[in-house]
Amino acid sequence: MLITIAPEAPPSTRTAILAAALERGFQAQAMANGRGGQVIGVAGSLPVEQMELGGIVDVQAIHKPFMMASIEARDRSVVTVGDVAIGGGLPVFIAGPCSIESKDDQIEIARAVKAAGANILRGGAFKPRSSPYSFQGLGKEGLEALAAAREVTGLPVVTEVMEPEQVDLVAGYTDMLQIGSRNMANFPLLKRVGRSTVPVLLKRGFAATQEEFLMSAEYIMAGGNTNVVLCERGIRAFDAAFRFSLDLNVVPSIKEVSHLPIIVDPSHGTGRRSLVARMAMAGLAAGADGLMIEVDADPDHALSDGYQTITPVEMGRIHRRGMALVEALHGFDDADDLVPDVAEAVRITSIEDAAVELERIA
Ligand code: PEP
Ligand code: MN
Repeated sequence: MLITIAPEAPPSTRTAILAAALERGFQAQAMANGRGGQVIGVAGSLPVEQMELGGIVDVQAIHKPFMMASIEARDRSVVTVGDVAIGGGLPVFIAGPCSIESKDDQIEIARAVKAAGANILRGGAFKPRSSPYSFQGLGKEGLEALAAAREVTGLPVVTEVMEPEQVDLVAGYTDMLQIGSRNMANFPLLKRVGRSTVPVLLKRGFAATQEEFLMSAEYIMAGGNTNVVLCERGIRAFDAAFRFSLDLNVVPSIKEVSHLPIIVDPSHGTGRRSLVARMAMAGLAAGADGLMIEVDADPDHALSDGYQTITPVEMGRIHRRGMALVEALHGFDDADDLVPDVAEAVRITSIEDAAVELERIA
């Protein structure tokens, strides 16, 4: 159940709910509700009315299986990474190479993507590669290179963590922990990052349903880390012409059912450099809170994913046109976003409205 408590509720209300849940063996987790109050998700049913607690605003016994991630739980979440807000209205641009290749290269690309409009730097130090013989990433040396690039540019950084045992190490160097597509259902890893306070970028498993994706977010939130950003990165479809197919349906669809921000990765989502810019625009048009794009100074010689990596110049174009696109679509979801002439025409073409209109004229 979801229990919302008012900002002015006595602290004893929260304590009593958590204690009652503990007593019954129900997992319970509190988080801010975005309106100054708190919401407590309890994995079970408590007799809240009989507990006579002050400051309870709302009790929802029926909710989605992804209780804490559901839109019913709280206002839209804004996740802060360094000084960058994700979900706050302006799209974020996360850019950088697939893998970190050296300290100098990472600093060079960090400078370039910053000039191109990126506000968060990416780069993998621990890489989940399809082949054990492919470059596996620089490991700790890569993390140091990433931190050096952050130092030089001031950009917050995101990098992937693949094992529960690595979480402390990686968290020591990064502003955001990335969970890769192949690990979306690695529950021990999700539980472990759930106990961290570092924001998490959760990429969708390429064969995961929307609900499975949100249940993985729920795992992280149930552990206490509510700073989760989702990332659509393409699913496996039937057409061998594409490495993956970007499933943009989930962007507006997830916004209907969850308060979590969601970004789009058109690099892995297409697997083809020439498709990235258009699909980046499509992602923003679908309502994404940002983009994650693989960018390298010399994509043809990148140690991984070069075929889907673009240059900083192309990234600058995506940023400039993307910002303009988001501006043009501002207010698109508002109910009063009507085209006046059409609204007028529709009003008098429905039979009932036409009858009313004729009576008025007569
Ligand atoms: C990546 O972002 O470099 C990556 C490996 O992505 P994914 O987990 O989506 O394949
Ligand atoms: Mn990659």
